[in-house]
Amino acid sequence: MNNVELLQQLIRFPTVSSESNLDLIHYIAQLLEEKGIQVQVIQDPVQAKAALFATVGDPTIPGILLSGHSDVVPVEGQAWSVDPFSATLVEDKLFGRGACDMKGFIAVALNLMLSLADKPLARPVHLAVSFDEELGCLGVKDMLLHLQHLKVEPLLCIVGEPTEMNIALGHKGKAAYRVHCCGEEAHSSRAPLSVNAIYLACDFIAKLRELQQQFKVRGARDDEYDIPYSTVHVGKIEGGKAINIVPQSCQFDFEIRHLAQDDLDKELTTLFSQAQHIVEAARAELPASRAEIQFTCMSRYPGLNTDASHHAIQLLKKWSADDAKFIRVAFGTEGGLFSQALNAPVVVCGPGSIEHAHKPDEFVALSQLHDCEQVLTQFIYDICQ
Ligand SMILES: [Zn+2]
Repeated sequence: MNNVELLQQLIRFPTVSSESNLDLIHYIAQLLEEKGIQVQVIQDPVQAKAALFATVGDPTIPGILLSGHSDVVPVEGQAWSVDPFSATLVEDKLFGRGACDMKGFIAVALNLMLSLADKPLARPVHLAVSFDEELGCLGVKDMLLHLQHLKVEPLLCIVGEPTEMNIALGHKGKAAYRVHCCGEEAHSSRAPLSVNAIYLACDFIAKLRELQQQFKVRGARDDEYDIPYSTVHVGKIEGGKAINIVPQSCQFDFEIRHLAQDDLDKELTTLFSQAQHIVEAARAELPASRAEIQFTCMSRYPGLNTDASHHAIQLLKKWSADDAKFIRVAFGTEGGLFSQALNAPVVVCGPGSIEHAHKPDEFVALSQLHDCEQVLTQFIYDICQ
């Protein structure tokens, strides 16, 4: 199968994050095993999902790790002009959910693995396929533990999210939290005698806005990004029942998108203790009342900040198209997690454009698949033979 035919097969597995990806994983495993490549399927203990890890060459030597996520975002409510899971070829574009984000890269990487199966390699090539990336990089974590256990320390990880084959060296990390503020209901005529949950929320949101100012004025700075500092944002809030009831509950969601250079753990610790002070102040004012602020982490992944001077990255650049650039990307990837867990340089580089991801009529240009195949093949033959 050529790359286009293989990508069509992959798109026809509707691996939306809410569904099982096992059929797709078993399909990939079977193709690899038919070529005698050893495959490890890392089953999720609670869901019908799995990650896959495979190696050609000697796994004890540092090599090249090619990484992709198998899940795709939903298509409901989107106006597609073709069936999103039929993989429709129209002239020089292949349309389908996951075409660019990111089964296109998986198809090229998988075909490359198959072609290397019987070649002598001085360095190994690994393929890592995760799940639940679109839910906040959740499904890669067990696989990374497994790779740490195997002592896999690649020379370079390539995360094949769509960059139009530019080489992304960085992206911001993200932490998203849901905050529950609890006060006590009372008749609004007696408002000063009860803790107002909306006031707790407002006081804490004021702290979030202060943190945004601090990031802007004193935080790390990277002018390669459109917004060159870490950002803080409250995106959703609900609380209270009626104008004449002191609200007992208010809930809101916030996120921090941070430069890898900012210490997010330290900032979160400060935020949590500020919340505690708000609660203590409310309790001190109204000792008989209930006041609480609770946090639930919804998703979290680290930022990526890779140094371009690494030998393997320079070699990848050498084999890239003349107009390929080192860039930063605005979207998050599993790259920061790979970098932390495997102690290896990580770049994000794959076919297609993020402009077409997550949208109706998602597509990848066939020329992008071809470029990806050329670049990866030449780079890997150079570094692994
Ligand atoms: Zn993606």
